Amino acid sequence: MDFKKYIRDVEDFPKKGIVFKDITPLLQNNLAIKAVSQELLESIGDQEVNKVVGMESRGFFFAPWLATRLNAGFVPVRKAGKLPFNKISESYALEYGEDTLEMHADGILKGEKVVIHDDVLATGGTASAVCRLVEKLGGEIVQCNFLIELDFLKGREQLEEYNVRSLLHY
Ligand code: AMP
Repeated sequence: MDFKKYIRDVEDFPKKGIVFKDITPLLQNNLAIKAVSQELLESIGDQEVNKVVGMESRGFFFAPWLATRLNAGFVPVRKAGKLPFNKISESYALEYGEDTLEMHADGILKGEKVVIHDDVLATGGTASAVCRLVEKLGGEIVQCNFLIELDFLKGREQLEEYNVRSLLHY
């Protein structure tokens, strides 16, 4: 299936110069959402996975579904101040300033095998901060999994030590 026809480019969102990859047309289409979920699952293969970590907020669309299919648990990573319980945090650089991501301290147990999932890999700042959170808790990243990779931003270079898989490349 040609998934790219279900990805909408929105120019100058959320700010001038950014072409936002809007996946809502894909989510709205029953055949497309089914097929893309299946392909994401197949890209993980039959590796042992204990937890799927999804990044706020568009990582939440597929990560819990992947977790149930992999017989794994789902763990949310959220922006600072949103999680209620004991947490660990990691900051990462943005174009101007920095942002902080948090995960519950009991989200990953030492030695657990973890897939991290998000909709888009851009510069890789978000994903590498999430990998650091998982590793702080003693988790082992078995795959960094994305629906879309913006190749020209070279996010993959920040994730060199990991197994990175993306369904669609731009
Ligand atoms: P980065 O940390 O630069 O890899 O950015 C990744 C995060 O920002 C992901 O959570 C994406 O959802 C979001 N993101 C970055 N660039 C885009 C884009 N062009 N379209 C949609 N989402 C994006």
